Order: sequence, then C-alpha cells, then structure tokens
Amino acid sequence: MVGSRAVEGLPASPVRGDTQPPHRPHTPRPATGCRSVVGAEQAEREEHLGMGGLERILEHLEGVKPTPSGEYAALCPAHDDHEPSLSLREAEEGKVLLHCHAGCDYQDILEAVGLDTKDLFPPHVENVVLWRSSDWRLTATYEVKDPEGRLVALHERLEKGADEKKYRWRLSDGRYGLDGMPLASLPLYGSERVKNWPREALIVLVEGEKATEALLKVGFRALGTVTGASGTPSAESLKMLRGRRVVLWPDNDEAGREHMERVAETLVDMAAEVRIYTWEEARSYA
Ligand SMILES: [Zn+2]
Repeated sequence: MVGSRAVEGLPASPVRGDTQPPHRPHTPRPATGCRSVVGAEQAEREEHLGMGGLERILEHLEGVKPTPSGEYAALCPAHDDHEPSLSLREAEEGKVLLHCHAGCDYQDILEAVGLDTKDLFPPHVENVVLWRSSDWRLTATYEVKDPEGRLVALHERLEKGADEKKYRWRLSDGRYGLDGMPLASLPLYGSERVKNWPREALIVLVEGEKATEALLKVGFRALGTVTGASGTPSAESLKMLRGRRVVLWPDNDEAGREHMERVAETLVDMAAEVRIYTWEEARSYA
C-alpha cells in the first residue's frame, strides 16, 4: 500500500514502531534546506513542480501559509482545526509530503477535500509518499516515574476511529518496548507525587493512567496501575504505599475487580489501611 512507506530521511511514523530503528527516538523533522519561499527562487520551484500535486492540494485547503522552512501550513480539513495543523511540502520528483500534527490520516485529509491519491498523481502513484500515515493516532503519552521522580518508561495511547485504542511502551531513551522489563516491576503511575502528599492522606489507586489523570484533575490524590487488568504490580512497585491509607477503585468489570483484589492482597501487609471502593449504583447500568 502506497500510504505505508516511510520516506528516506524523514521520520518514520511513530505509530509504526515495529519498523523504526530502536536507537532513533522521535527525531525532529529535517530541515528542507535554506530555500526562500519568495521571489524568483519560489517561482522557479513552482515551475519545476509544474502540474505537481502540491499546488493541487493547496488549492483545496483553507488558511494556507508558507512557512520559513519552505513548507506550507494549512488548516487540516480532516479534523476541527482552528490553527493550521497541516504541514505540506514537496520532496524530490514531485512527491508530496503531508503531515497533520493532530494525527489525521493522509487519506482522510485528501478525502475531506474530495481528492484521492489516484486523482492527484495518475502516472506517479508510486511516488506519492506520505510523511506520516497511519490509521492510529497518538493521543497521549504518559510518563511513568519512580517514587524519586526518575523516568522509567513512557506509555503511549493510540486511538483509531471513535472507539479503538491501544497502548505501547517506550523506554526513557525513546526505544520501543520495555527491553525485557516486566510490567509488574514498573512503578505505579504518579508514584513521584506520593512523597508530597500528607502521611494521613487518602490515596485512590485506579487502573490505568487515563483514569488517574481524571481523578487528579478533580482533586483526588490518585495513582494508577500500569499493568493492565490482567497484570498485577509487584510488591516492590507497591511498597511506596507502606503506611498509607489506600482506596482501590477498580474498573467496573470482572477483570478490573480481580485486578484490584490481587493488589489488595499485596497491599494489606504494607498499607495502613486498604479499602476497595464499589460503586453499587454503577451496577444497575452494567
Ligand atoms: Zn488533521
């Protein structure tokens, strides 16, 4: 498929971690040289492009502006864009590079303006190269730190369409995966905050970073497990809760409840107090 090729010299899609060299974390976009976007040089470049696809796409976009680096910025037609999130530029041989910083897929972008790669480049379909193309959008990056605040791993949330999601791990140096580190050994999400919380404070432990963030936002002192419901944080990961008052708040499903019950079994010997919160009212909607 045309859309899945990475461009030499351009960052591969972060979504396609399986093909990304492990030593190359999220590299910044390479500069495209020191071309000016005004004057004769620009005219020459456009002439060189001829019937190239870049102008064809630009014609269909709103808010088009040249940028100092010789690219174009425009409002992305594929999402509700209020400041230009779409970068466009041409590469060698009339290739067009599209990149929505909100993560829209290039096909969605073209479709939103009624274009198709086949319409755009009939003789050169193989030359339509996508800067970044994937159905998966990176929607959050959570930093998992130890109780002293050292970054241990990054947990990236990816979403596709309206209701598909997945997570993937990176090491603190940007490499994908956990290099054999067991999930159970990872610190709880938010561990670095605990040292600042009063000794007697009630701490809520939930499943996952997103739930943790939601509780933090409304003023709870919250931590999250990062193992998924099928895993269990190790005693080592939980020991920073020694002497603390902890409320376990499971996801409202069987796997979530079992997950927190296993956490409770470990915590009961170290925490000052362990309770499992059950939201009875939620059951009637389940
Ligand atoms: Zn977009």
